[in-house]
Amino acid sequence: MMRRPARPVFPGILRWLYLTAPVVVVILVLFTEARDSRPATRATRPAMGTSVTITVLHRSERRARMALEAAYDAIERAEAALSAWRDSSEVSRLNRDRTIVAGSDLQRVLTAARHYYELSSGAFDITVKPVLDVYRAIFADEDRAPTPAERDAARQAVGFEHLTVTGNEVFLSGEAAIDLGGLAKGYIIDRAVAALRRSGIHDGLVNAGGDIRAFGSNNGEPWRIALQNPRDRTDYLAVIALTDYAITTSGDYERYFDPEREYHHIIDPRTGRSATALISATIIAGRAVDADALSTSVFVLGPEEGLALVERLAGVEALLITRGREIRVSSGLDDYLTGSLRVPDGNPELSPEL
Ligand code: ADP
Ligand code: MG
Repeated sequence: MMRRPARPVFPGILRWLYLTAPVVVVILVLFTEARDSRPATRATRPAMGTSVTITVLHRSERRARMALEAAYDAIERAEAALSAWRDSSEVSRLNRDRTIVAGSDLQRVLTAARHYYELSSGAFDITVKPVLDVYRAIFADEDRAPTPAERDAARQAVGFEHLTVTGNEVFLSGEAAIDLGGLAKGYIIDRAVAALRRSGIHDGLVNAGGDIRAFGSNNGEPWRIALQNPRDRTDYLAVIALTDYAITTSGDYERYFDPEREYHHIIDPRTGRSATALISATIIAGRAVDADALSTSVFVLGPEEGLALVERLAGVEALLITRGREIRVSSGLDDYLTGSLRVPDGNPELSPEL
């Protein structure tokens, strides 16, 4: 099916963005409680380096609380395997020992990582870790940018071909190391949703620091998610209506090494430098793992190639902010503003069932 080409929207916002720097895309959940509605039961706990709020709708608060426990347990289990910040995680052990027998979470995330490596023509590459390690070390120890020679040396270590998966055994060759930061949060959000559903919850929402997956409905209404206006916290750039969808953002405004933000945590594997065409990439997709991997991919690809990729994928939309403060959106984004879009059944272009 041919889709309309991407075009800029929100002319008023555009003007505002030109005037405001830095631009911060903060995503908020708007709650409206309908009459005769099932009550919302909510919990917030720290996880994945951020704060995770889970909201569920169920008549029985006891059932709701049990489901919340099951969801946080699922998050903890997956994080224990996938976190680069824990020395005992499977991913840290793989980087150290060069081989590991992977559990189901690591196996699934590596399958999705390979899928997005191929779909993005190598822009999404979990083997960029050596470059990030060099940036972190040089900025922390010497408070300076890496030299071209230091950058080139780090880039030599990058390469997806150094990662081999045979059954449940994973191997790394050369100087390669992997970092799952580009998709692990999304994957873990999906695990939390799966745990809630297994616990009998049909409607809810998982929010991990603005990366969100909504499922079911808010008492018959779509879940409404707002992109906050950073200049006026009571105002929104856009309100997006979601039913069974995920929304995630990749940006350079949170984790950068230098004041100019030339060196930040999203690396273009083709150059070994931080990707600089965009300052933020927000993606909507059916599952959080797809949205998360695609927001990192599109951030690296930039507005033209990034939107071209999004337009190829059914059920995926994007809102991008360029370095020049221009907003670019994919052709179907408008439909979310009214909540009329639904996830298509089975999408072979997205990563396999996880
Ligand atoms: P965050 O929510 O932490 O901002 P993003 O989804 O924006 O996460 O992904 C950024 C993380 O992805 C980085 O911290 C790093 O771990 C990893 N990463 C950086 N560059 C790439 C890349 N080109 N491909 C895949 N992962 C990457
Ligand atoms: Mg990501």
